Amino acid sequence: MDIEMNYGGDYKYIPALSIRSGTGIEVLPDLYQHTIQIVNIFLYGHPQKDDFVLIDAGMPHSAQKIISVIQERFGENKKPKAIILTHGHFDHVGAIIELVNHWNIPVYAHPLELPFLTGKESYPEPDATVEGGLIAKMSPMFPIEPIQLGNHVHPLPADGQIPYMPDFHWIHTPGHSPGHISLFRENDGLLIVGDAFVTVRQDALFNVLIQQKEINGPPRYLTSDWQQAWDSVKKLEALNPQIAVTGHGLPISGEELTTDLAKLVLHFREMAIPEYGKYLN
Ligand SMILES: [Zn+2]
Ligand SMILES: [Zn+2]
Repeated sequence: MDIEMNYGGDYKYIPALSIRSGTGIEVLPDLYQHTIQIVNIFLYGHPQKDDFVLIDAGMPHSAQKIISVIQERFGENKKPKAIILTHGHFDHVGAIIELVNHWNIPVYAHPLELPFLTGKESYPEPDATVEGGLIAKMSPMFPIEPIQLGNHVHPLPADGQIPYMPDFHWIHTPGHSPGHISLFRENDGLLIVGDAFVTVRQDALFNVLIQQKEINGPPRYLTSDWQQAWDSVKKLEALNPQIAVTGHGLPISGEELTTDLAKLVLHFREMAIPEYGKYLN
């Protein structure tokens, strides 16, 4: 029996914007980043080929936008082979049901993220008390109830492989969410981070608005395990990535990436962990 897909009861449009909203960057010939309001989606695959995947699924009510971005890059009537999720927060699954309905393609996520994607478990309530700007203040309105993808969502292969992304493997990077993953390609050091760290201070309104580039820890208001989050950043630094793209903010590469990431690992307590907030133990 097919389970009907639906969003949680608290699903809604979130009126948050950045200046990069609606713009895209070709990070590499086979990797395109596009910003939906305040979050990035990624298209992996050469535009001349038919094999490509969508990584993450944008903000609520952005499906038409995502479809047109894909048509522009890959051509009319082209569709991704699959949607790979770094995690299931509302800003990464916001348009997923319309997209799955439109293309009839599978979704893959880490097994520990599946309860949030199959109607079983809500995310912890956002912490609006963490210091910072309007995004943190807005966070109580963020959808946290589970969405229901039924049998359209599948666990990622346990051996680290990623369907339709043969040169990559996934790395479990929990802390921001229990089943958060990052995607790594060894031959050129390309790291698709998700929200394990980001390149904009998501809790500071002004930085979100102008997208000032600055490596920081995961968005604070939704991160529920800071020790795990720190360990995950260490794990990613140990890969020695050469290019990193993140769920929020601009791509970062080379010396700047190496230096900034080392600094984040070393000073995670001061830079990333809020001074107060309800997820501190
Ligand atoms: Zn997130
Ligand atoms: Zn996010």
